[in-house]
Amino acid sequence: MATDTQIAIVGGGAAGLAAAISAVQRGCDVTVIEQADRLGKRILATGNGRCNLSNAALDTEKSVFAYNNPKFVQGIIASLGFEDIREFFADLGLMVHVDAEGRVYPRSNSANSVLDVLLNAISSLRVRERCNFAVKSIDVGLEDGFPAFRLSTLEGESLTADAVILATGPDVMPLIDAELARVWREPVLGPLHTQTAPLKGLNGVRVRCAASLRLEDEVFASEYGELLFRDYGLSGIVVFELSRYLQPEQEISLDYFPEYSDNELRELLDHRLQKLNGYSINRFFDGMLHRRVAQAILRNLSYSSYAPAQSMQLERLAHILKDHRFKVTGGPTQAQAQVMRGGLATTGFSPQTLESIRLPKFFAVGEALDIDGRTGGYNLHWAWASGIVAGRAACEAIAQQDSCLLFHPRTVSRVTKVTDI
Ligand SMILES: Cc1cc2nc3c(=O)[nH]c(=O)nc-3n(C[C@H](O)[C@H](O)[C@H](O)COP(=O)(O)OP(=O)(O)OC[C@H]3O[C@@H](n4cnc5c(N)ncnc54)[C@H](O)[C@@H]3O)c2cc1C
Repeated sequence: MATDTQIAIVGGGAAGLAAAISAVQRGCDVTVIEQADRLGKRILATGNGRCNLSNAALDTEKSVFAYNNPKFVQGIIASLGFEDIREFFADLGLMVHVDAEGRVYPRSNSANSVLDVLLNAISSLRVRERCNFAVKSIDVGLEDGFPAFRLSTLEGESLTADAVILATGPDVMPLIDAELARVWREPVLGPLHTQTAPLKGLNGVRVRCAASLRLEDEVFASEYGELLFRDYGLSGIVVFELSRYLQPEQEISLDYFPEYSDNELRELLDHRLQKLNGYSINRFFDGMLHRRVAQAILRNLSYSSYAPAQSMQLERLAHILKDHRFKVTGGPTQAQAQVMRGGLATTGFSPQTLESIRLPKFFAVGEALDIDGRTGGYNLHWAWASGIVAGRAACEAIAQQDSCLLFHPRTVSRVTKVTDI
């Protein structure tokens, strides 16, 4: 073998480990290169330490719309749906369970189990590891039409490979060559920052409600589920989902009673007022709404808690309970976000194999590509599925090259800079 390894995988996260296992299972010699001191650290932080690794809905046709680029992901998700990923992990020894909303977790409820089975496979299948190796540049030497890659660190260490799978997650840095176009990165799947005055007293309160992103009366996205008030803004799964659609100037609107229409809620309040005749305003809300949310709404309407409930204008009250607005001042920071949107433009890669269209035997997987999905296991599913596909395809590309090389032996000499990552 003229190169150090047949396939170099840059990044030992979810996508890189899946790629390594699938490639070595097809008989290739694989090296995983990781800048950290060990592989798969980020997996341990996922799903609040439980690792929501996939979603059962991924076996339905509509599931591709959970991603920002359904057209690009559809072939890969169709060939590697939830059952295939369950089988991939079952073969490694992982037992899983599926919750009522289709979210898939390890049966142990511990992300450690997911990483353990991956690392056991990496070690028993003899995948080579190079930790503490931060790749800063990748060069390609074209000789007799066959590319070979040289991956180098800033300190001058290097490694050569016949094929490269880029699995660097959100860390892809500017590419200095135009070979691979990229899309600007922005943090998504995180809390939204809002004006803070209306949040007074609400930090830590959880409610189940419908939440929508609006510009005046136009609704851009809406979700239903648990929301968490923070002192800087709004958090919780519903808000994480909305962060994927955030545009400048938008407000977030909370509907605390989505199961009632405007008129039904107005009637309910009227009926309640008759039944609770003589109550003060603060008592009127007891048993109906979280006390601190009620206080925030009363402040907004400039009602005194101790005034008689009969003094409230029910029309105004019903309106704010169905449309409580918060002005959004910003999206999640990178540290708060689960995913970075953007990365390498999918237009430069085959949706079947994830191989670069302009650069043979160069693949990109997981979050390195401009693919992001909903919460609920969709992002890790993409990481596993894209890794497995690229691992297999890289082996096939090498097998084809080797059969050609029997007739055209080559050496690696001339190099052209491709990327600085
Ligand atoms: C707190 C949190 C919770 C999450 N929970 C979930 C969840 O429950 N379910 C879900 O589906 N998704 C979840 N996600 C998203 C999910 O973690 C990612 O989508 C997924 O990890 C992406 O996998 P990846 O392999 O592409 O990237 P990563 O997991 O980020 O792996 C990339 C690896 O490449 C290494 N690397 C980067 N640059 C270099 C370099 N130059 N040289 C060498 N190595 C390099 C990095 O150190 C890293 O180990 C969560 C994310 C966060 C932050």
